[in-house]
Amino acid sequence: MMILNIAMDGPVGAGKSSIAGEAARRLGVLHLDTGAMYRALGLTAIERGISPEDEAAVTQLMRAVDISVAHSEFGQRTLVDGRDVTGLIRTPEVSMAASAVGRYAGVRREMVALQQRLASTTPMLVDGRDICLRVLPDAPVKIYLTASPEARARRRWLEMTGKGDETPFEAVLADVIARDEQDMNRDVDPLRPTEDAVILDTTELDFEQSVEAVLRIVKEKYHE
Ligand code: C5P
Repeated sequence: MMILNIAMDGPVGAGKSSIAGEAARRLGVLHLDTGAMYRALGLTAIERGISPEDEAAVTQLMRAVDISVAHSEFGQRTLVDGRDVTGLIRTPEVSMAASAVGRYAGVRREMVALQQRLASTTPMLVDGRDICLRVLPDAPVKIYLTASPEARARRRWLEMTGKGDETPFEAVLADVIARDEQDMNRDVDPLRPTEDAVILDTTELDFEQSVEAVLRIVKEKYHE
């Protein structure tokens, strides 16, 4: 069977999880959120008193735990040693920890292998930071989803305010910029568009327009 995989990368808050989730649903493929897997590792480090700055201990932890995903009609659940951590991985503390543990070569090697195994079994739209470059270098469709830092921070802030979170906009923008900085300047596979990726800038697009733009890129690629 030919496995239809779509690779999608982009910076924090570009709408990957929401836009990718909806695009995958309409295409009838699963959506693999690889950021959630780095978040699960970051969370586990915090819970076990391991500093995300401690490369040796974090790499050891990555080898010791079993990170898995399950897909339901409500989207992806992320599990660590069978325990569902989906509801615990969206805090700012876990975001920074995920970004920190994602700097280590040993961690990335294991994560990439795990994600490649998952994507080889079922058609998936895989989103993350290194998907076009490392996880699915042969994917027939590659998309780099981006938007201005202000637009990305605004969307995230609106989402947080909607949930009753009172974090000020400036703090959300500072977090976006700090994580961009960490993700784009790390030594191992820093975030940047690969040459064969279609760049989709959603600064001026709303949610529906962004989803449609993704679907258009997929269709065009498949008709080539
Ligand atoms: O996409 P999300 O914001 O949930 O990702 C959390 C962090 O995990 C990112 O800031 C990034 O450092 C890391 N990550 C990564 N490679 C991926 C996905 C996420 O390094 N494929």
